[in-house]
Amino acid sequence: MVAAQIASRGIKNRRVLAVMAGMPREWFLPPHLQREAYDDAPLPIGSGQAISQPYIVALMTASLAPGRRDRVLEIGTGSGYQAAILARLVTGGRVYTIERRPDLLVEAEERFRRLSLTNIETRMGDGAVGWPDAAPFDGILVTAAAPRAPAALLEQLAPGGRMVIPIGDLGAQELVIYQSTVSGLEERSAGSVRFVPLISRFAFAEREWG
Ligand code: SAH
Repeated sequence: MVAAQIASRGIKNRRVLAVMAGMPREWFLPPHLQREAYDDAPLPIGSGQAISQPYIVALMTASLAPGRRDRVLEIGTGSGYQAAILARLVTGGRVYTIERRPDLLVEAEERFRRLSLTNIETRMGDGAVGWPDAAPFDGILVTAAAPRAPAALLEQLAPGGRMVIPIGDLGAQELVIYQSTVSGLEERSAGSVRFVPLISRFAFAEREWG
């Protein structure tokens, strides 16, 4: 999977490739989908949600490029796959992950235990407000699409930190990378993506989804 679907499409970060090669994606899927775990596709994880296509997980992780001692916030725990990959990259740091659906979060927590990932903190709730008591974060990864970057998340970015977030409407989004610099916030796009929506009464009015 890593060679055929990820490295071949230009993801070069060796640590990201190595961690993904060592992560059993089938453990994050319902039993009837485990045979498809290494397909080049997103897959349903229940409750209308999805585990992203492996290439997109790699693209987002490589765009965030966390350092070993970084504190990283993920919004949208889902299956826990992305958080588990982040946890193995920030071995001397910590991953904070927020999910609004309790059923999904309970299953993800079980997977983190099974993988002995002890550097992940979980929280149930609206991730658009961030995790103020653990802020600031060196990296923030949002794995659900938003009409714009939630202000609370940008505020919780450490100086020099990076936020990766799909921005757009329900049909398609751009993967946007915000980089905090001494002269302000820089922004670039890493390509088109398609995510389920970030649901937040706090951050967006329903009509902003167009
Ligand atoms: N990162 C996941 C995939 C995420 S799918 C993985 O690796 O499997 C998007 C997830 O975001 C869904 O589980 C959805 O319930 C969650 N979500 C949507 N809006 C949210 C919000 N405001 N706060 C936290 N989680 C949210």
